[in-house]
Amino acid sequence: MALPNIDASKLTKTLTTAPKELADPKTLTFGKGFTDHMLCIKYTEDGGWEAPEIKPYGPLEIDPAAFVLNYSVEAFEGMKAYRAADGTVNLFRPEMNMKRLSTSSQRLMLPEFDQKQFLQCIKELVALDERFIPAEHGYSLYIRPNFIGTEPNLNLKYSREALLYVYMAPVGPYFPRTVKLLANTADVRAWPGGVGSFKVGGNYAPALRPTMDVIKSGYDQILWLLGDDHYVTEVGTMNFFIFWTTPEGEKELVTAPLDGIILPGVTRDSLLALARGWGEFKVSERKVTMPELVAALAEGRLIEAFGAGTACVVCSVSTVLYEGADYQIPVDPANPDAVYGPLAGRLHRELLDIQYGKTPSPWTVPV
Ligand SMILES: *Cc1c(COP(=O)(O)O)cnc(C)c1O
Repeated sequence: MALPNIDASKLTKTLTTAPKELADPKTLTFGKGFTDHMLCIKYTEDGGWEAPEIKPYGPLEIDPAAFVLNYSVEAFEGMKAYRAADGTVNLFRPEMNMKRLSTSSQRLMLPEFDQKQFLQCIKELVALDERFIPAEHGYSLYIRPNFIGTEPNLNLKYSREALLYVYMAPVGPYFPRTVKLLANTADVRAWPGGVGSFKVGGNYAPALRPTMDVIKSGYDQILWLLGDDHYVTEVGTMNFFIFWTTPEGEKELVTAPLDGIILPGVTRDSLLALARGWGEFKVSERKVTMPELVAALAEGRLIEAFGAGTACVVCSVSTVLYEGADYQIPVDPANPDAVYGPLAGRLHRELLDIQYGKTPSPWTVPV
């Protein structure tokens, strides 16, 4: 007989006896201040998935020898809930996050889970804590699913016990500004045959030192390159887009392909679909190298460059430091104070209108 999978109808709720006071929306910063409740779902190899539990947000009890604490058996997701003008709360393409979490966790030998039932549990958590989503436009609720191997066992096979859990934090509007990148030619984020395309914790700890070095040098994020030809992969924790005129004279929006090196962003996929839908210029997923980018800049063919991810949606790039030279990237030549280039700004507006329910879309999933 098949062992039980996640079953949202078995969800139990233990409500907090100490509801938190809502922070002043103006003081919200990313990554701090969590909502009242969290969702926990336990797995054991012998018993399958246990009944999902919603309980007060608080510390986890975990064995010191747990797989995750020794060998980083951890995969995660980042998604958001948005409040529409009519007060309803929506998720944005959440099935893509479920699928990606499944792919990431299976790479770590974590067990399969029913994606639809897990999503249903997340919706219940969001609905329970929806008072934390400020009504003002631009605010949202950041949702962090985490999947960890919890078996206390130092034997390097795989974790026979696991915990899937979700907690949430209200976030303020992303303060838009352009970013300065440092093209890193020393450290490598991901490589062929590696795990760059999986959202696993083990990819992020090694990026901390190079990232802090970049910040200390006065830049915001790393432009991650790969190989001797300096293939431009992605930026910080965002996918990277270039809008330019090709040497053949064609306008093209281009981003790195899903070749196992980059993280397959939901934002990336959405921007590609929007731009393809307009049908106004060529939209490509292909490899571009730093020397090609520099040549385009020198020849006046580079129109814009931007990063894309759930946190900021779209973020225009103003500068790239590469091999000792600081290259100025055009943002909006018609407006020196612009924080978005014309294309980045348009993509940003269109995506936000969908996320906040202004533009009806099958991507919007009500809670
Ligand atoms: C999460 C992430 C992204 C962006 O993915 P979205 O689904 O668009 O938020 C891009 N690159 C890395 C390395 C990431 O971890």
